[in-house]
Parts: sequence; C-alpha cells; structure tokens
Amino acid sequence: MPRPIQATIHTSALRHNLARTRLAAPDAQVWAVVKANAYGHGIEQVFEGLRGADGFALLDLKEAEQVRALGWRGPILLLEGVFEARDLELCSRLHLWHTVHCDEQIDMLALHKTHEPHRVFLKMNSGMNRLGFSPQRYRSAWTRLNALPQVDEISLITHFSDADGPKGIAAQMARFELATRDLPGERSLCNSAAALRHADQPAVKADWIRPGIALYGSAPDFPEHDAAQWDLQAAMSLNARVMAVQPLQPGDSVGYGSQFVADRAMRVGVVACGYADGYPRLCPTGTPVLVDGVRSRTLGRVSMDMLVVDLSDLAEAGVGSTVTLWGYAANGQVLSIDEVAQAAGTVGYELLCALSSRVPVHGVDGLDLQPW
Ligand SMILES: *Cc1c(COP(=O)(O)O)cnc(C)c1O
Repeated sequence: MPRPIQATIHTSALRHNLARTRLAAPDAQVWAVVKANAYGHGIEQVFEGLRGADGFALLDLKEAEQVRALGWRGPILLLEGVFEARDLELCSRLHLWHTVHCDEQIDMLALHKTHEPHRVFLKMNSGMNRLGFSPQRYRSAWTRLNALPQVDEISLITHFSDADGPKGIAAQMARFELATRDLPGERSLCNSAAALRHADQPAVKADWIRPGIALYGSAPDFPEHDAAQWDLQAAMSLNARVMAVQPLQPGDSVGYGSQFVADRAMRVGVVACGYADGYPRLCPTGTPVLVDGVRSRTLGRVSMDMLVVDLSDLAEAGVGSTVTLWGYAANGQVLSIDEVAQAAGTVGYELLCALSSRVPVHGVDGLDLQPW
C-alpha cells in the first residue's frame, strides 16, 4: 500500500471558481493563470476544470507546450515574455502570445524571422517596480513595436502591487490610464484581488482579467475576506491518515524539540504528512486540521514525514482515521488553506505551490474524495 497521503483536485470547484470570477467582470475575457504548475495543482489536473477560460497565462515554455499538448488551440500568454531569442521560435510554432517588458525583448523580436506576426502584450511598470516600461517610456516602446513587421496586434498590460490591501489600485490606475489614453489595443489589468475587490470600477476590468489564486479557491485578501465570503471553493484537498496513536501522560512531550508538553492525559494521532509533502514546518501547535471531518489541531513540531494531531476529544478516531490538512473532508466539511497558511505566517499561494511531487494527485469531478 502506498503511504496514506493524497491530494485531490476538484474539477467542479475549478469550474465554479472560473464562473465566479467571470461574474466579477462579465464583459471581460478571462486568462486562467496556470503558472507554477497551476499553482501546484498540476496543469493536466486543472485543464478540464479551466478549459472554459478564454486563454491560459503562464511563464514557462514547458508549460505552454503542455497546454498545447492537451489540445488547447486558443490563446496562451507568456506573462514574462521570452528569456532568449530562440524562445521566439517556439512562440511562432505554438502561436504563443507574449509579454514585452524591456528593450532587449524588442531587440530580439526585431531580429526574429517569422511568417506570422506575433500578438504581444506591452507591459507598463505603473508602480510595482518589477517588470515593464515606465509610463514615460511606454509610448516610445509602443511606437517601436508597432513599426516591426514581426508584430501584429499590441495589447496593453500592467500589474497591481496592492489590489489586496488598503493602498488599493487608484494611483497605478491613474498612471496607466494617462499614459495609454490614446493608444489602441486591448487592455489587461486585474489579478484575482483586483477583479474581486475593485469590481465596481469598470476601467479596471478592461478586456482581459488574469485571475490565478481565486480559481484555486483561496481568498486573495485573507483574513479580510475568506474563500466562503467570495463564494470560492477549494480546488485542492490534502488528506492523510493516522498511522499510529499514542497515549500521553501529564508531562509527556511530542516530537522534535519537545515543543508540546501535555498538561493532562491525552491521546494523539501520528499522521502520514510532513514538511517533505509540502505541509509547512512553521505551523505551530494549534494549527487547525479536520479528523474524520471534525476540527482538531496539530501538536508539536511538524517533522519531515509525520505530524501529530490531538485526538483527545475524538473518541471514535484512531489508526486509519482521515486527517484533512486543507480542503474537503469526506463528510463535506472544509478547512480553508488560508487558515493553515496564516498559522505558518504565509499565504495560501505558497502552500499550494509547495505541494511536493511525492504526494499522489487525483482529479475528481465532485467534491468526493477518491478511495485510497
Ligand atoms: C500570477 C499573476 C497573476 C495572477 O495573480 P493572482 O493573485 O493569483 O490572481 C496575474 N497577472 C500576473 C502578471 C501574474 O504574474
């Protein structure tokens, strides 16, 4: 029998979340962002649930090839564009649209031999200071691109640094609008947080939105809102089984560093999940889990292959009980990945992306968990 841990990808949740993001911007087209192996879910596992999107946005050429190999003939956008000149050959061959964020990428395009001109997304650095041309240099980059026979349509793209927080998007919006006022082309501005939180501003939603995290059912602005408040469903469940049970007497400790010490008689379960599976070692005692669908907590330090949960108030639980680390339990109860991430001092994004390759992943079309 394989080690009793598995991740389940819920196709119906992906479909629901895609519909939910469309609702936020009903006139826009939707890029399903599937970078980082679809935020840890696996491109193949999410394809069925997200194929209703208008396009797929990602970073790695390998992932673009994977999406084409799955039979997708629609748009694919490289969010960081090409990294070297020969990447453009693959763009021509696979009909990839690509972001242009720097002069070097325009230089490469100018030297590229192609029969079909490329659709490009010209990126503005409107304040995040990662990628893109400054508002002052944007127009000259546009003019230069527009003069190239290698370039077909030019779309306009920028990215918000604070769509999830109190600073908001107004200043970046204003810079983008001013610098692009009389430029033609489709526009793309919104990530998940902008699409959900700033849905009242029509200009934000533009022609293409680019949701990532919302599609996977994690709230972009937890704890201000949780996934349920945004009507998002967890697309990934991580479940493992109790492998052993230990009785504790007052004064007994649990795990490396004896970080948890019992102050009364207890019963604890040892679960087949550790940081080598992607469960954060930084989760302290008290991090929520579901045991057979009932809320409990972790005890002591997470180790590489195991962690320990409190079974003291769960008389029915024992060896073989299913522990939900995040997502759905068999009884339909859900544990938000955002809560677990918060306990570890991080965000749902990081936990999803960190799911380890040693964890078997199954896709299911309902919320049902596969039999082990
Ligand atoms: C990752 C990414 C997104 C998606 O962001 P979420 O916060 O996951 O919605 C959108 N646009 C760009 C340019 C990105 O890199």
